[in-house]
Amino acid sequence: MTLTGNLLIGRQSIRGTNGSLHGIDAATGATLEPAFGGATPAQLDQACALAWQAFDTYREISPERRADFLEAIAANILALGDALVDRCVAESGLPRGRIEGERGRTVGQLRLFAGMLRQGDFLELRVDPAQPERQPLPRPDLRLRHIPLGPVAVFGASNFPLAFSVAGGDTASALAAGCPVVVKAHSAHPGTSELVGRAVQQAVAELDLPEGTFSLLFDAGREVGQSLVADPRIRAVGFTGSRAGGTALMAIAAARPAPIPVFAEMSSINPVLLFPNALANRAEAIGAAFAGSLTLGAGQFCTNPGLVLAVESEGLERFLEAAASSLARIGAQSMLTPGILHAYCGGVDALAQHPQVRTVARGQAGNTLQGQAALFSTSAEAFLADAALRHEVFGAASLVVRCRDVAQMRQVTEALEGQLTAALHLDAADHDAARTLLPSLERLAGRILVNGFGTGVEVGHAMVHGGPWPSTSDGRTTSVGSLAIARFVRPVSYQDLPDDLLPAALRAESALRHTWRVDGKASR
Ligand code: NAP
Repeated sequence: MTLTGNLLIGRQSIRGTNGSLHGIDAATGATLEPAFGGATPAQLDQACALAWQAFDTYREISPERRADFLEAIAANILALGDALVDRCVAESGLPRGRIEGERGRTVGQLRLFAGMLRQGDFLELRVDPAQPERQPLPRPDLRLRHIPLGPVAVFGASNFPLAFSVAGGDTASALAAGCPVVVKAHSAHPGTSELVGRAVQQAVAELDLPEGTFSLLFDAGREVGQSLVADPRIRAVGFTGSRAGGTALMAIAAARPAPIPVFAEMSSINPVLLFPNALANRAEAIGAAFAGSLTLGAGQFCTNPGLVLAVESEGLERFLEAAASSLARIGAQSMLTPGILHAYCGGVDALAQHPQVRTVARGQAGNTLQGQAALFSTSAEAFLADAALRHEVFGAASLVVRCRDVAQMRQVTEALEGQLTAALHLDAADHDAARTLLPSLERLAGRILVNGFGTGVEVGHAMVHGGPWPSTSDGRTTSVGSLAIARFVRPVSYQDLPDDLLPAALRAESALRHTWRVDGKASR
């Protein structure tokens, strides 16, 4: 498929005339053709108008047909074949195997939501049947279902150009919920965005869905994204990126005459807690595995292990030696964008120059587009005294905090901001110590894991990829896994509606097809 650089607005492919941007080959810095035209205010208005027009029709399309739609998107993405993988590798600098794996995850995610739609239980239907004889007052008939919020604006992530971008988790969950989607393409992968956008556009046509179900806009600056969030027809936002970007969009959403929710996944340093017995027994293995997790994808994971907490011990020294010798063998890797590389180098320099921080190891040096891994250490006292040491350095950098004992480890976790993950490395003899930390870790993070690292997020029903501020803007939900759909729906209760006025899912005959909660108890 030849790239056009056009906006995809409903069924049309139109040239944006509000400035232009190019993709950049992340490994060489070369400009990639074609130029992508930014959307004008009129083109943005058209995308939002179509999305709003589509909403009432699209949301009442049967869950089965929406499932067919998601599966058609998945099939169309796969049909793009190598053209998609090649462009995505060039724009992201990520290895081919990683992009192929990410394509599989993207397709799997779409199919997961399709399966959920077919089961129907995401509607969370509830019925409290009428009790006309109840004393002293009769009880009305109450029926509840969840309806979609309305058109959703999606800002894809630079670090997941497929799984968290145009047809990634936010888009898949919003479309599954019944929300039309307007994507603001990430400037780091415009060609990948167009290819995937066309796969979605084609699926809209194949299923004969309302044309405003999906649009894709490019932005040569920041104006299109900001106007999209401010548009009254947009009713929710999905975002993955920087804390500065997420908070800027949240401020716009909150200042609207009718504010809307922004589900932003932003910044997390994902503490790894090394317990004394695990370190004594297998410090070398943990150190080597840690170095692998730290440098995966050039460290450009929201779940990257950016912080290690451990009690001072001979085992900790062995861990540091093992991690350092592994890092010394790991080559520098291309980073996603020059801007991300610049921010990474700035963060690493600040740590290296901090008077209370020691540089433990560096990975191999590379060219001017590549990030060099870095491992630092500091004392718990210094870490607690300086909030700047708790900031995310996005890339393959991590800070080891030396603690006096497990009680001080807990003191350090209490000082942290909200996190996506907390990883514990422990042996059976560490369980009692770990138990004392669990309440604090539950308050801290969305996912707690043992003897592993947060990188590698399983897409399933019990996954939480979320957490308290600032890891996300709303720690009550997740952006990965089937629960992500809950972000884009709200409950509506129907009191005493005649059967023929009720939505189909709540009519008497639907009881055979759907799980209902009747008087608070699951019907089957
Ligand atoms: P970003 O700069 O926040 O950009 C994400 C998306 O939001 C892009 O589409 C961007 O537009 C848009 N955007 C950002 N600020 C905006 C604003 N003020 N107004 C309107 N739109 C705005 O994130 P990034 O480019 O992916 O990476 C930059 C930094 O984000 C990294 O160095 C890292 O610190 C962090 N990051 C964190 C995670 C995570 O999961 N925790 C993931 C990726 C990145 P453009 O396309 O025009 O830039």
